[in-house]
Amino acid sequence: METKSGEDALTLPGGTGGDSCAYDPPWATVTEREWNDYRWQIANRVTDVSQLASLPGIDPADRELLRRVTSIYRVGITPYYLSLIRFDDPADPIALQAIPAVEEFTDIGLDDPLDEEKDMPVPGLTHRYPDRCLMVVTNYCSMYCRHCTRKRIWTLGEGSKTEFELSKMFAYIRRHEEIRDVIVSGGDPLTLPTARLEYILKNLRRIPHVEIIRIGSRVPVVLPMRIDAEMCGMLEKYGPIWLNTQFNHPREVTPEAAAACDRLIRAGVPVNNQTVLLKGVNDHPEIIRRLNTSLLKAKVRPYYLFQCDMVRGLEHFRTRLSRGVEIMEALRGHSSGLAIPSFVVDVPGGGGKIPIMPNYILSMGEERTVLRNYEGIILSYEEARSDGRPSARPDDAGPTPRNDVYRLMTGEVKSLVPAGNERMARRKRRCESGSPAT
Ligand SMILES: *Cc1c(COP(=O)(O)O)cnc(C)c1O
Ligand code: SF4
Repeated sequence: METKSGEDALTLPGGTGGDSCAYDPPWATVTEREWNDYRWQIANRVTDVSQLASLPGIDPADRELLRRVTSIYRVGITPYYLSLIRFDDPADPIALQAIPAVEEFTDIGLDDPLDEEKDMPVPGLTHRYPDRCLMVVTNYCSMYCRHCTRKRIWTLGEGSKTEFELSKMFAYIRRHEEIRDVIVSGGDPLTLPTARLEYILKNLRRIPHVEIIRIGSRVPVVLPMRIDAEMCGMLEKYGPIWLNTQFNHPREVTPEAAAACDRLIRAGVPVNNQTVLLKGVNDHPEIIRRLNTSLLKAKVRPYYLFQCDMVRGLEHFRTRLSRGVEIMEALRGHSSGLAIPSFVVDVPGGGGKIPIMPNYILSMGEERTVLRNYEGIILSYEEARSDGRPSARPDDAGPTPRNDVYRLMTGEVKSLVPAGNERMARRKRRCESGSPAT
């Protein structure tokens, strides 16, 4: 969107594609003031099939298919995000994220592959990792991403959690003193009325062991005008708050989006980015490199590159893991380290996030390790000879690391055996019966 300051009326462009698209949406003429008002943006979202069918590049014959898709997965596109689409490009990366596709009809995938619901001690709160938890506080988003991992909650309607439901989550966090990091997610929490979000943050801040609060929101990307003075003033009161957003393509890093991130940062809220690796949208090293360097210019730190989850209706967006590794290979060494996220796959069944990257260790010996660098140069690295000297210790004993593999390293345990291992069960039976090993 090119905002031409000084002009009263703005015309919604049919993308920068220009004249080739004779696109005349119902909101073709809008004042700059309206355009920059998030309420206007929300009120004028594309939400139904007839609006969709009137978009350029959409075959009216697809109307029936669109109707079927949208009867399962709802649509919502802010005029702002719509204005980023180049309608003359049939494979536009912005359109792919916003406009429903027939491919969403598929039996492949699961509603909740990450088993978030199974790790929910109270409805809406997932406690998977030792010191942090995730709250789903609303089912509402200003833009419904076609690749959303939590598409399953869309069927619950566009509602937010009640105070009663929230109180159960607060009580759980209060009882669990190990939780020091709470992720407020959804849906999109920044679509809540400011007072409502404040209620959540205020209640979390009343819990002494909650050190940091993270907000997961795509608002900076799809509705940047929502990050207004009122919102920033409120967030400033409840820090430290970190915001994780989701830019997936360099063209999403517009001056408006960058300005929204800047307002957050000035309110003391660091902004990090979690890109989803999506076929046809950003599954190319050069796109990710440009995205991440644009983000750094906007002072946003690329945090994660996510493998697309195995969610029903997302199969057409998934890439092989090898594509992610290839992208990481092309980034490391070739871009600022700050522009390099961790590539992670959240494995189905609740195993959590696992980082995946190219292998830089070729071999390890006691005295030397053989490494290769990003250019393919193979090097010998001389190991330290300070084995006799003690390692650092924290002032207090501190909690024992709970990480199971780490316990193998400290020697606390000798092995980790999967539950139900048949050989171990045989061994146990033999011991109990007292018969000698054969
Ligand atoms: C991703 C996630 C977190 C946060 O993980 P970090 O690696 O700390 O960013 C916490 N809880 C759940 C359930 C998650 O999926
Ligand atoms: S903003 Fe987040 S929760 Fe909302 S649809 Fe997009 S990915 Fe899903």
